[in-house]
Amino acid sequence: MSKRSSKGRGGQAGEARFIVDTMLGDVARWLRLMGYDTLYSSRYEDWEILRAAEEEGRIIVTMDRGLYSRARRRGLRAVLVSSFETPARLAEVSLQAPLRLEADPRRSRCPECNSPLVEVRDKSKLRGRVPPAALEAYDVFYVCPRCGKVYWEGSHWRNIRRILEEAREIRGRILREAGAVKRVKRVEGRKQA
Ligand SMILES: [Zn+2]
Repeated sequence: MSKRSSKGRGGQAGEARFIVDTMLGDVARWLRLMGYDTLYSSRYEDWEILRAAEEEGRIIVTMDRGLYSRARRRGLRAVLVSSFETPARLAEVSLQAPLRLEADPRRSRCPECNSPLVEVRDKSKLRGRVPPAALEAYDVFYVCPRCGKVYWEGSHWRNIRRILEEAREIRGRILREAGAVKRVKRVEGRKQA
């Protein structure tokens, strides 16, 4: 498990950091895209996840009820995800942890390796690494200093914004429904302490 990811630029001070369980690779990539320092491996053992959460103050994101309960019993912060679609999963995480549900490439981390991206405007540095049409069409690129991948605000960014919008809608719906349930309970006169 790499600890390099917790250092360096990116991620505002005090911002949530995550460790994501094996079955939620899509959530890990999205958290990184939104700029959150996120550890993920498809081969994590539960003890590794618990240790990283404990030592590095990371929030655990999991679909495993057993791991979730163990984390909570140890006083660790954990998010339990039950959906199978990415937007619904992101909405679930945002209801249980502080999450923006917004993406700005200037603060994104590499979805593949979690390294903060570096803005590059000098296109000569990118020849051969970006399709010529993209190099022609865009002025700003974002390079991962660790794995070398290059990103830019192409058409896929519209897709990214659309999925995050969908996640915000789902979150809003869940909150409205929860509010409606509370109101019904009040009307029934069952006052909560
Ligand atoms: Zn990378």
